[in-house]
Amino acid sequence: MRQRVADEVVGFEKEIGRAPVLATVIVGEDPASQIYIRNKHKACAEVGMGSVHHDLPAEASEDAVLELVAELSESEDVDGILVQLPLPPGVDPDRVVAAIDPIKDVDGLTPANAGLLAHGTPGLVPCTPAGVMELLRQEGVALEGAEAVVVGRSKLVGVPVARLLLGANATVTVCHSRTRDLAGVCSRADVLVAAAGAPRLLGADAVKPGAVVIDVGMNRTEDGLCGDVDFEPASEVAAAITPVPGGVGPMTIAMLLVNTLAAARARV
Ligand code: NAD
Repeated sequence: MRQRVADEVVGFEKEIGRAPVLATVIVGEDPASQIYIRNKHKACAEVGMGSVHHDLPAEASEDAVLELVAELSESEDVDGILVQLPLPPGVDPDRVVAAIDPIKDVDGLTPANAGLLAHGTPGLVPCTPAGVMELLRQEGVALEGAEAVVVGRSKLVGVPVARLLLGANATVTVCHSRTRDLAGVCSRADVLVAAAGAPRLLGADAVKPGAVVIDVGMNRTEDGLCGDVDFEPASEVAAAITPVPGGVGPMTIAMLLVNTLAAARARV
């Protein structure tokens, strides 16, 4: 995917006279956010895209954050805007995200893009859910009529993944923290997408033999990074399973590049 974007960036630059540009914003000093943003800038550089970063202090007021987002939304030189979440207490992420011009909303989280997705006519789709679908597509996983179970119902991952699976004609069940018999529901799935943020929540008993398992979870534990699925036992039952780290994470970054190029194209 990155190679394809890199090739298309060359064509864009020839045609338009400049490369697409991503602008990122971090408020505060969350160490995980710093790592994520660094990786995103590195990925932009590798495909020949420009990127600019804005750091605001943890004490920044909501108005200051809104002002910066408005400036970036209006800037002629910026194609995509990504505000790294979480934001510090006192800054409402919904208000900040809503201030992003939907045409530059490369995270696909503005009400306009979330609404288009709910409506079944997607605009810019959130990067992680888009990456999950791309993994399934490239592996040729049959979704039509398949039982798909999504664990997690966040705006960022669970809900958009469920909507995209529905759009691909899967029969979709969404589980969450109040679901009874989680393992029982999950074990019905031909395609299981785990996005709960709970280390090794799903064991082999939650995986149907021959299922395809996509593990979105990124959990920092004492023994390092792990997913929401207990990889070793689950991989003995599943037909295919994504590792953590190394599965959905890199796809998310690839889809950010795809979205930034799409946003740049939409502006010319
Ligand atoms: P979130 O906390 O906003 O949502 C978690 C969801 O899981 C909630 O809907 C909750 O009801 C459900 N849940 C939590 N515990 C549960 C349990 N014990 N049983 C059933 N459901 C449960 O998190 P999020 O932003 O959706 O992220 C989910 C995970 O995906 C996190 O680990 C996050 O780090 C990871 N993530 C990874 C990437 C990536 O690029 N790989 C991107 C985004 C998020």
